[in-house]
Amino acid sequence: MELRISDKISKIAPSITLAIDAKLKQMIADGIKVYGFGAGEPDFDTPKYIRDAAIEAIEKGFTRYTAAQGTLDLRKAVCAKMQRDHGLVYNPNQVIASSGAKHSLSNTFAAILNPGDEVIVPVPYWVSYTEIIKLNDGVPVLVPTKKENNFKMTKEELLAALTPNTKAILINTPNNPTGSIYTENELKDIAEVAVANNLFVVSDEIYEQLIYDGKKHVSIAQLGDAIKELTIVINGMSKAYAMTGWRLGYACADEKLIKAMSSVQSHAVSHPNSITQHAGTVALNGPQDDVYNMVEQFSKRRTYMYQRLSNMEGLRCVMPDGAFYIYVDITSYMNKQLCGQTIKSSLDFAQILLEQGHVAVIPGAAFGTDNFIRLSYATSMETIEKGLDAFENFVKENLR
Ligand code: PMP
Ligand code: GLU
Repeated sequence: MELRISDKISKIAPSITLAIDAKLKQMIADGIKVYGFGAGEPDFDTPKYIRDAAIEAIEKGFTRYTAAQGTLDLRKAVCAKMQRDHGLVYNPNQVIASSGAKHSLSNTFAAILNPGDEVIVPVPYWVSYTEIIKLNDGVPVLVPTKKENNFKMTKEELLAALTPNTKAILINTPNNPTGSIYTENELKDIAEVAVANNLFVVSDEIYEQLIYDGKKHVSIAQLGDAIKELTIVINGMSKAYAMTGWRLGYACADEKLIKAMSSVQSHAVSHPNSITQHAGTVALNGPQDDVYNMVEQFSKRRTYMYQRLSNMEGLRCVMPDGAFYIYVDITSYMNKQLCGQTIKSSLDFAQILLEQGHVAVIPGAAFGTDNFIRLSYATSMETIEKGLDAFENFVKENLR
């Protein structure tokens, strides 16, 4: 019998980042030595004070349903964080906690999109944006950016992409996969367009703490009341607090929007896990030294990795300012033979490299630019050193 899966779902591709991560973990479980530069997942353990808070929550019986929007304590902790770090004033009714930033994005698009509404997505983009937009009946409008602009969308590029159906603009700073960060002036340009055209701005700031060389993160919501009202700030605990598996993200926005998102969430998953919410509250309110220490480590790895990759024959990359990825141009590899197979796409290259070279990278196809690969440096220095040796030797020996 033919199983009649929905048309909408059959147009969605599963997450390539998570698929490669699953394959890598399976190879490791099978006893194969693999170097992982794949999914962006900090190698650090969740800081001890956060783990202790979770144990305390279990022991004290904080194991029941919470408010769909998230506990008041957690939402207050988010408000305090937004004020502390960005001078942004939100009240707890303008905050929702969700099961990861991915889930916050999903709630956001469910709350703002009508069928056919267009969302501007600068390319390269994080793999899940387009699929989450499509899942919520929206249309992603892909806007290619230029390497000479550090892969950031300019005002002119944005204006050229607007149509009467444009509903929202998505920005991600610091960016996954390029590591670029938007400056205040660049954000002002985008804010002007959003306000003039009454467009929502979905601002994914999950890498906001992971920023290097004294550069500064600016949230577009900081640039005035009008743009703040239109902005949905997305953030989460996965990256800065090494809490990927805990699944906790949050969004800050206008109260009416948060109510709509909360309504969606109440029917889908009720709320994020109560224990995680308590741990997240403690993480945000507690000392931030662990975050600074992790950023210091990421910064050292970034410099080393950039130097190594830039010196490899045929590769070109831009020094990332934030997040924990390096986006590498592999155009010179295209149409060459690797282990006797012609490289026709970044997927071909990543697949051969993983299966035969035992090095995991993410193909640029996941981010809308097929002549690139992404390497994460959220992994130990030892893995970076040995993994880059393995990468370099494999390509030297097998690329013709
Ligand atoms: N946004 C971006 C840009 C990401 O790279 C990720 C990766 N996990 C997420 C959102 C989602 O993070 P999480 O759901 O783990 O909070
Ligand atoms: N966001 C990370 C990445 O881009 C983790 C995987 C995922 O959530 O897709 O690799």
